[in-house]
Amino acid sequence: MFSKVLIANRGEIALRILRACKEMGIQTVAVHSTADADAMHVRLADESVCIGPAPAKDSYLNIPSIMAACEITGADAVHPGYGFLSENARFSQILAEHNIAFIGPSAHHIDIMGDKIEAKRTAKALGIPVVPGSEGGVTEDAEAKRIAKEIGYPVIIKAASGGGGRGMKVAKNEQEIGVALSTARTEAKAAFGDDAVYIEKYLGKPRHIEIQVLGDGKGRAVHLGERDCSLQRRHQKVWEEACAPTITAEQRDRIGMICANAVAEMKYSGAGTIEFLYEDGEFYFIEMNTRLQVEHPVTERITNVDIVYEQIRIAAGMEMTVKQEEVQFWGHAIEVRINAEDPETFAPSPGTISYYHPAGGVGVRVDSGVYQGYKIPPYYDSLIGKLIVHGRTRPECLQRLNRALDEFVVDGVKTTLPLFRKLIKEPDVIAGNYDIHWLEKYLAK
Ligand code: ADP
Repeated sequence: MFSKVLIANRGEIALRILRACKEMGIQTVAVHSTADADAMHVRLADESVCIGPAPAKDSYLNIPSIMAACEITGADAVHPGYGFLSENARFSQILAEHNIAFIGPSAHHIDIMGDKIEAKRTAKALGIPVVPGSEGGVTEDAEAKRIAKEIGYPVIIKAASGGGGRGMKVAKNEQEIGVALSTARTEAKAAFGDDAVYIEKYLGKPRHIEIQVLGDGKGRAVHLGERDCSLQRRHQKVWEEACAPTITAEQRDRIGMICANAVAEMKYSGAGTIEFLYEDGEFYFIEMNTRLQVEHPVTERITNVDIVYEQIRIAAGMEMTVKQEEVQFWGHAIEVRINAEDPETFAPSPGTISYYHPAGGVGVRVDSGVYQGYKIPPYYDSLIGKLIVHGRTRPECLQRLNRALDEFVVDGVKTTLPLFRKLIKEPDVIAGNYDIHWLEKYLAK
């Protein structure tokens, strides 16, 4: 096992990883920018190193600086969390060259899944159902029209290097395809430095359902069921559930095993998430994230598996402690993302938290890096915490969430808590009756 893990991240996820390390008897190193000197992850770590000024490109994305911090502290592994360098194959490669373990998959797997055309091709070859569309990249209008006609309109043109919901264009008919193709390529080039795009069928009312997997890198893998993350704003998830309100145990088993088998066959190592759109009883692969996800706690809550603990064990070459036949799904869990944002305009609201009282009690977990008096810096994403509740049934879980939202107080900055207090009273939310467009339509009312 590792003796010292450097956590190349900040905020709630840095704390989440730090807690797992402490429980495993592993020393922790926090890295931080000058803006984060007072952050909780810095206070709780055994050691800390300042790796640069506030902008992420100079600190949390600064590979030489992080390598120097490893060298100074003698860390023998790095956990990248999510975002920042978590899906950077080069970083994983550099660490390997310095005999420092990357707590995540191989550079090869990060590379394959980072290119969505390659990811889709790989998924299809491994027996995962994909959205009907082009086999590879598309550059010519005529070719785009031929494929679109074959799969039927509307279609969506997506950037191979896309991420964060950017670089996508919908074409409703043949007249729109030329412009959609050229704007998608121009935007993809500007945003990602790569103009490769592909076409797929545009699904009108899908849910976003993803499968959590763990692979040991030697051909053994398990799935931990699904999460429904359909409540999204601008393709960003705001509310996540496990199990999904609409999926049966048979469907979970079937798609879960398809994913676990694929991951085993790839000899994938570590935690991953295979994301699908789900419509009319069918699953359609859209991408695989080769890292820990923000919403992993809902899965932890219903399966009693500590995903970060397993990630660390796998990276250290040890056996996973999870066996598929032992995985059970207990009750229902919901996570809401508390962002320091105006709950109506979603404008970021950095500033000092003047009063902080998190919810507590039975079935409540709060993953957060903030405290009373903490100054939220304006430089990073606005997630300040996650409220995760568990109940024996979905109705019980909703009641508990309602109660926990009532208790939760964050003063001094605006947060998305009021949005959740409204959502929990919406009949569609109570009924679990929503697709990926539901929240946008609700907010536009
Ligand atoms: P990114 O990596 O940018 O997040 P994804 O491929 O995961 O891109 O897609 C992000 C979101 O875009 C999905 O959650 C869904 O809302 C929408 N989307 C993507 N592909 C399709 C499709 N074929 N039909 C309908 N919506 C889609």
